[in-house]
Amino acid sequence: MTFADLGLSDELLRAVTESGYDTPTPIQAQAIPPVLMMKDIIGIAQTGTGKTASFVLPMIDILAHGRARALMPRSLILEPTRELAAQVAENFEKYGKYHKLSMALLIGGVQMGDQIKALEKGVDVLIATPGRLMDLFQRGKILLNGCNMLVIDEADRMLDMGFIPDIEEICTKLPAQRQTLLFSATMPPVIKKLADRFLSNPKSIEVARPATASTNITQHLVKVDSRKKREALRALLDEQQVQSAVIFCNRKTTVRELNKSLQRYGYRSGEIHGDIDQASRIAELERFREGKVNILVASDVAARGLDIKGVSHVFNFDAPWHPDDYVHRIGRTGRAGATGVAYTFVSEADAEAIDNIQKLIGTKIAYAPLPGGSDRDADASQEEKRAESRDRKPARRDDKRREAPAREERPAERPRHDRSRDDRKGASRTPPPRRRDPVDDGPDEGWNGPVPEFLSVGFTG
Ligand code: AMP
Repeated sequence: MTFADLGLSDELLRAVTESGYDTPTPIQAQAIPPVLMMKDIIGIAQTGTGKTASFVLPMIDILAHGRARALMPRSLILEPTRELAAQVAENFEKYGKYHKLSMALLIGGVQMGDQIKALEKGVDVLIATPGRLMDLFQRGKILLNGCNMLVIDEADRMLDMGFIPDIEEICTKLPAQRQTLLFSATMPPVIKKLADRFLSNPKSIEVARPATASTNITQHLVKVDSRKKREALRALLDEQQVQSAVIFCNRKTTVRELNKSLQRYGYRSGEIHGDIDQASRIAELERFREGKVNILVASDVAARGLDIKGVSHVFNFDAPWHPDDYVHRIGRTGRAGATGVAYTFVSEADAEAIDNIQKLIGTKIAYAPLPGGSDRDADASQEEKRAESRDRKPARRDDKRREAPAREERPAERPRHDRSRDDRKGASRTPPPRRRDPVDDGPDEGWNGPVPEFLSVGFTG
């Protein structure tokens, strides 16, 4: 099967060829024809499967006919995080280069003025995170009644982040006669209910998880004493031919401290997590993409969907609490047919998390030995050792407070416009999120502008 068999226009085929793709991925082969036929779709697929192009490509051809009107976007794509929204915008630019479609991106963290201007002129595609969109909607800056096409991407992630009430509300503002595409890596009952309520006679498409399908990622577990993780990490970084690595931690504090520690030991590392503002996050990704740093210490904010080519290794410094996060994290390596290696540290407390991961991916992950021995640290300078021990021994109570999972932390984009919503009758039917990600974004502060050039940096494909 080729892209030409899917019914896409010549302009799109040209853009696809220039992107270097010759064969559609399974989700593209199955989704593109029905989307072009204006059908509703439930796509059970996650990042890494080519799902973005599976909706962006047909949307471009559908939107090629017709004109945008002031304040009334013709289509809406909802994304759970700023990074994913920016990445989808970049896909639109790449595939839509031979079309004249206008696009606006509504995400937090950047100035909003230009974006309001763009909306006033009218846009064909609005890519937004739910909280930001609701803010602008309630300020009368957007009318959704001209929006005939809706994409809800990463629906299970939206659920994790507490966005389902927002999405329900947004759905009711759109015309009833519209095309809706819903993508989710998993289909928990709440998402199924959402689909039953807001999609009409959808075609369901399910593609294999990249992690289970992909044999090009070699996965290892490594037993470590939780107090010796840094040492173990350095041993692996030195032993392995690490071209570039993403190291995932469960908490922002750990990201910061680990990055500092790696830098002290002379590694070229950087960090991204939700406390870092959007522009700096993008700048940091750019440094990583360009190889100025070859190690990126990250929270799960970076795990979903970030597409950085050539990542040779993923390290789970902390075993993820949620098994889906494991799949997303290791999917940062082994992309686009390359091989990759993933190491997950397992300390005493992680047995259950590892069990859940293995259940989800359907295989046992083998344990690998740690290279070297405890004498590795013999070479570390005294100063470094002192710094490490300072890091490890702040007053116990304080340490606990800093490291406790921040359940009360608000996820990115928790709607600021109506915090009472959760108390309302309708909202109470939606179960609380399974887990508030303690390392996710802070509240969305709002911005926009025409997709700035820097957004294409670090988010390829
Ligand atoms: P996604 O699942 O949308 O995050 O895409 C994952 C990666 O696959 C991105 O780097 C895309 O550029 C790439 N990709 C998408 N479609 C194809 C294709 N048909 N052939 C090769 N790579 C693709």
